[in-house]
Amino acid sequence: MEKLTGSCLCGAVRYEANTKPIMTRACWCRTCQHLAAGSATINVVFSTEAVYITGELSDYESTADSGNKMHRKFCPKCGVHLFSQAEVRPHILIVRAGTLDDQKDVKIDALIWTSSAPAWAHLDPNIPHFEKQPPAPTVK
Ligand SMILES: [Zn+2]
Ligand SMILES: [Zn+2]
Repeated sequence: MEKLTGSCLCGAVRYEANTKPIMTRACWCRTCQHLAAGSATINVVFSTEAVYITGELSDYESTADSGNKMHRKFCPKCGVHLFSQAEVRPHILIVRAGTLDDQKDVKIDALIWTSSAPAWAHLDPNIPHFEKQPPAPTVK
């Protein structure tokens, strides 16, 4: 895979990742439904040290359904959410797939918090489901 790059909607925040993602998960928790305007968020999981970010970010801190204190980072100009990070796992950075310049290599490995998904959600039966929080991704 080539280097992955991405940005917010207005372009004030840009990033590039110099390694492959660890995994990608679609999250249907209620917080993600707010962030993604109704749908799941598609979360590409990276080792934090692999992602180089430029531009100013705002940080919204909240407690997730998992009980983890989360930092959700967004562009203060256009409001697009790009990253999230659990306070207990600073070595893992989650990138929202919609901000990638090229999503063709993104493949969803798991659907999480499916118990919170609305009745109209399409949950691909070929992808593993987790009703709530699955185990944390391991960084090799
Ligand atoms: Zn922006
Ligand atoms: Zn979520």
